[in-house]
Amino acid sequence: MQVSAQKVVHIHYTLTSEEGEVIDSSEGHGPLAYIHGHGNIIPGLENALLGKMAGDKIKVTIPPEEAYGPRDENLIQTVPIDAFHGVDEILPGMQFHTETPNGVELVTVIDVQDGYVSLDGNHPMSGLTLNFDVEVTDVRDATEEELDHGHVHGEGGHHH
Ligand code: ZN
Repeated sequence: MQVSAQKVVHIHYTLTSEEGEVIDSSEGHGPLAYIHGHGNIIPGLENALLGKMAGDKIKVTIPPEEAYGPRDENLIQTVPIDAFHGVDEILPGMQFHTETPNGVELVTVIDVQDGYVSLDGNHPMSGLTLNFDVEVTDVRDATEEELDHGHVHGEGGHHH
């Protein structure tokens, strides 16, 4: 069975940066399962997997535009440290969920100075070219319930 829309696809993957540093991997926690054509994974990887079958291995380099998007410097904002009441200490690298005009978004603290905190609303992997080493381990039809929920049930997926 080939990878196409509405199929549940199981993949083992290793994600490395342009410099060859491993960023993420399915090793140690089983294959990742996703529903093809539902935006569960980044577009560049979905495109590369289309038509592949169990046992196929691919290597693909994905530019930011087909991964987590380019960086947007307008997403960096500075707020008074008072906004973080209830948090003992604010340090660079900490991440918070925050209300924005576009809904709840994840922001990363990039600097703390003179009572102000600089926050970066870009996805941590935005602006990066990503190298994926992927092995397809299984392809099957999605169930009605999975299509309804928009995610995979059972092995490698969500549980209820
Ligand atoms: Zn569900």
